Amino acid sequence: MPPKPPATLGIPAVQVSRRGASRLKDGHVWVYRSDVVSADGVDPGALVRVTDERGKFLGTAFYSSASQIAIRLISPGAVPDLAGLLRARIQAAIAYRERVVKDTDAYRVVFSEADFLPGLIVDRYNDLLSLQILTQAMDAEPMREIAVSELRERLQPAAIAERVEPRVRELEQLAPRASGLIQGETSSTVFTMNGVRFHYSALEGQKTGAFLDQRENYAAAARYARGEALDVFCYQGGFALHLAAQCSNVTGVDSSRPALEVADRNAALNPGLTQGREMEWIEANAFDLLRDYADAGRQYDMIVLDPPAFAKSKQHLETALRGYKELNLRALKMLRPGGILVSCSCSYHVSSADFLEVVAQAGRDVHRNIRVIEHRTQAKDHPILLNVPETRYLKCLISCVSY
Ligand code: SAH
Repeated sequence: MPPKPPATLGIPAVQVSRRGASRLKDGHVWVYRSDVVSADGVDPGALVRVTDERGKFLGTAFYSSASQIAIRLISPGAVPDLAGLLRARIQAAIAYRERVVKDTDAYRVVFSEADFLPGLIVDRYNDLLSLQILTQAMDAEPMREIAVSELRERLQPAAIAERVEPRVRELEQLAPRASGLIQGETSSTVFTMNGVRFHYSALEGQKTGAFLDQRENYAAAARYARGEALDVFCYQGGFALHLAAQCSNVTGVDSSRPALEVADRNAALNPGLTQGREMEWIEANAFDLLRDYADAGRQYDMIVLDPPAFAKSKQHLETALRGYKELNLRALKMLRPGGILVSCSCSYHVSSADFLEVVAQAGRDVHRNIRVIEHRTQAKDHPILLNVPETRYLKCLISCVSY
């Protein structure tokens, strides 16, 4: 046995149960509070040594005194230089994006656990960085400073904004903090993905910004678009604007008027794509609208369904599946033969298999034959860790209704 590096001796220890230990041995990075055996005198957000009940070292982690996820592993070994590790991980996250991200100046630069930086999310929108801090450990002033200085040095943004979700801070028992600019003068910009332009505003008014995880799915959907398209749960027009160039008319539906106002402004930013096309934005409850349109016998060549996460936890799975089924059923009913359904789910709790089964059932119920063209997931700047299933959450099924 090599001697234990001295750095691990100086930091507090958290002991985890057998179940917690086996989770870590299986490659996961979380241990839930119910699997913590002792964390005596450990400060909120501390860097800790994780051990099993016999005292065997399992790795180095961030501790949260508030979250159900008490332990977030950052290394299976010792961490003698936390600042150095943080900087190296940010550099690696940036280098990874340089390899996998294409056709965009907007992408996720750091995605928390998926970049081995639990609690830190950084998005880039053109020359602006938007930062979110989700955990006690990342919220500590020295950690913030290191993260910001490394990002500034490597990416040289014109501005860095911090976006605060008050609810997240409350749950982590962190003092309230306002969203604001950390650097620079402006928190708004215009970004371009797949050749389509969008407004971004980190702070003012209605939150704008894209669902960056759908970026590659927008481009995929556009490849099959034609005729008349309906984008349900369109938000600020992500899918709708990507489809516009290939379609004669595109209708976007959302229950949020402010989101539709931004969608309309985004359409105006892309005259080359939208000119000569009918772009219509409808404020409505998607369930009601789909029912009415299907009853009225409306027909489309492409329908996109991208609802919010229906299953926020396991308990909501059944209700969520019913919701997905209803949406898919109505959409399938309205597709012309040869029409394309782009159906998404961003609920981690709804597995790929569940989701496929729901769409299949919907097809059976309305006697439509569905052929899968592409079974997709989130864009590559939202990495998936095979041993951390929670990092794989987005499903995007592109299929063709043959008859
Ligand atoms: N497709 C979008 C993202 C959709 S996010 C994109 O790619 O950018 C989910 C959207 O659903 C939000 O804009 C929210 O306002 C909307 N929404 C939530 N419940 C709704 C409902 N019952 N009917 C219509 N829209 C709804």
